[in-house]
Amino acid sequence: MRRILLWMAGNPWLRYHLSRLGFARRAVLRFMPGEDPDSALRAGAQFKQDGIAVVVTRLGENITRLDEANEVAEDYLGLIASISAQGLDGDISVKLTQLGLDLDVDRTTAHVERLADRAASFGKTAWIDMEGSAYTDKTIALYERVKARHPNTGLCLQAYLHRTGADVQRLLPLEPSIRLVKGAYAEPASIAYQSKRDVDTSFVALAISMLDAMRAGRKMRIALGTHDVALISQIATYVETLRLPKTAFEVQMLYGIRMDEQRRLAREGFTVRDLVCYGAAWYPWYMRRLAERPANVLFALRQLLP
Ligand SMILES: Cc1cc2nc3c(=O)[nH]c(=O)nc-3n(C[C@H](O)[C@H](O)[C@H](O)COP(=O)(O)OP(=O)(O)OC[C@H]3O[C@@H](n4cnc5c(N)ncnc54)[C@H](O)[C@@H]3O)c2cc1C
Repeated sequence: MRRILLWMAGNPWLRYHLSRLGFARRAVLRFMPGEDPDSALRAGAQFKQDGIAVVVTRLGENITRLDEANEVAEDYLGLIASISAQGLDGDISVKLTQLGLDLDVDRTTAHVERLADRAASFGKTAWIDMEGSAYTDKTIALYERVKARHPNTGLCLQAYLHRTGADVQRLLPLEPSIRLVKGAYAEPASIAYQSKRDVDTSFVALAISMLDAMRAGRKMRIALGTHDVALISQIATYVETLRLPKTAFEVQMLYGIRMDEQRRLAREGFTVRDLVCYGAAWYPWYMRRLAERPANVLFALRQLLP
């Protein structure tokens, strides 16, 4: 089921047709408050009451014209100003292929630098998502270039890739901000762990290696992008044994998933950041959410009922 849903995520015909169906549009609202940026900002204001920060992202990937990248970058520049004007503790997170990585690496880098500059002027962080493995090298190289000049940038790394331990070690001298996730794409066994148990083991090992580095005096920001509360509590116990504060890492979860746990963790003193999406290009992203938990397909199908 996971493989089929991930294949559907990349199919342009299905993208065109399914994203126009009313039931699919209703179903996606479980994972995003709306297509316009104001919905995301309103959600952020509500989270603020629960002590939860946000990271806002505009959905979309693999653009095919450079003028689209300009439009996306302008939109993000306005978004950063709005997040700040509304007094939200809010970062942004971008996909490089939405800023033109398939077309022109230098222009993509320039866009990320403009966003990082604007984010820095408001004390915010610009995160970079990690896409499929065809982009891993380019994404890390771009992050290294940008991070050298813009300390307020962060990068997502995927625990399912065999290479990630080495990537963490390579990035440590840059004092990086790393959001560790399990990984959302279909990757072959030659480069990625396939079973949940192996991915979870890798996730914990990577989190521990970053915490050990922090304990040894490395400056870095660690975010755990997962809804797996069992793993979070295992890692929190390790933090205690290292005598680091609860705030040694932050938890990032997606809008609409395990909201009760997000509020509980915030109440218990953990730093929690909810990733809120907006934008019309939600189809591939939504299909990846269904693939993570095929039970969500039933929820989507129930939206067919009157
Ligand atoms: C803030 C954030 C940013 C991310 N950025 C990236 C990125 O840049 N690149 C990338 O490859 N991946 C990214 N991901 C996705 C990530 O790789 C996983 O696919 C996703 O988080 C599901 O794995 P999990 O860690 O929650 O654990 P799982 O083992 O999949 O799930 C643990 C539990 O969480 C709940 N859960 C998980 N997913 C769902 C869902 N879709 N619907 C309902 N319940 C669910 C279930 O109760 C499940 O039992 C991101 C995830 C988060 C939270």
